[in-house]
Amino acid sequence: MDYGKVIQNIYEDLKSCWGKGKVADYIPALAKVDPRQYGIAIETLDGQSFQVGDAEVCFSIQSISKVFSLAMVTRHMGDQIWKYVGREPSGNPFNSLVQLEYEQGIPRNPFINAGALVVTDRLMTLYDHPKDAILEFVRSICGNDDIYYDKNIARSERTHADRNMALGYLMKSFGNMENDIEAVIDVYCHQCAIAMSCRDLSKAFLFLANHGLNPINQEQILSVSQAKRLGALMLTCGFYDESGDFAFRAGLPGKSGVGGGVAAYIPGNLAITVWSPELNRHGNSYIGMETLEHFTTDISNSIF
Ligand code: GLN
Repeated sequence: MDYGKVIQNIYEDLKSCWGKGKVADYIPALAKVDPRQYGIAIETLDGQSFQVGDAEVCFSIQSISKVFSLAMVTRHMGDQIWKYVGREPSGNPFNSLVQLEYEQGIPRNPFINAGALVVTDRLMTLYDHPKDAILEFVRSICGNDDIYYDKNIARSERTHADRNMALGYLMKSFGNMENDIEAVIDVYCHQCAIAMSCRDLSKAFLFLANHGLNPINQEQILSVSQAKRLGALMLTCGFYDESGDFAFRAGLPGKSGVGGGVAAYIPGNLAITVWSPELNRHGNSYIGMETLEHFTTDISNSIF
């Protein structure tokens, strides 16, 4: 399969969609990103890589980081994490507060903001230096020691984090947050502000495509069962209230972020990341979602 040709054709077709979405502006530093950027990168388990467009440009991974923090916590806590957070789709926007009060401060899943904050709270209990630990983990899984926190984005989100603070305090009132909320939000804003390229992200997702074993350094990051579960969560919850539609259209486990990135994979085969900053009304990359639907259709392969 000539993946290079497939993504080149998709790139040429979908460039015309620029202008159909809107860059996230509730984090002021993200509003300044040039909207007309678009990259695709594929890494295969047999060592091939393919890129097109802005695949080497670093962008803010935002909620894609929730996959990495959950993987880290899973390694330490195994099933214990499910006392703090659920694993059902929420059917609500990523930053919604409504379910949380009805459900006694236990977020529906680890990929909505409330769930990710619980996971970050656990990381803070597990590590003395959680920010260092997160960066070290991400660097090691993609084999790139240059991955960094974009301090400007972290600061910008931190000063506009009222809603996430509200989620944190509401959960604290139910006894589901252990650490100081301001400190949790600070770590969370940093993990969201990790800067990576499509190429880095595809490498970082290869261990998921390889059932938990990182093909880059042969480290077993997660057990086969844990990797299966992380994939199932991405399929059912990775795109918030658009998760069903993404499964329907692309048929892949994946995760989006409001920076415009979408990372996904075909188990046993490859990881693919798309980046284009303009978002649809669910906060997922407009062109990113389209690209992955075209990709699995063109190659006649998905998890189904
Ligand atoms: N940092 C963003 C927030 O908390 C992440 C949201 C996202 O990427 N969907 O609002």
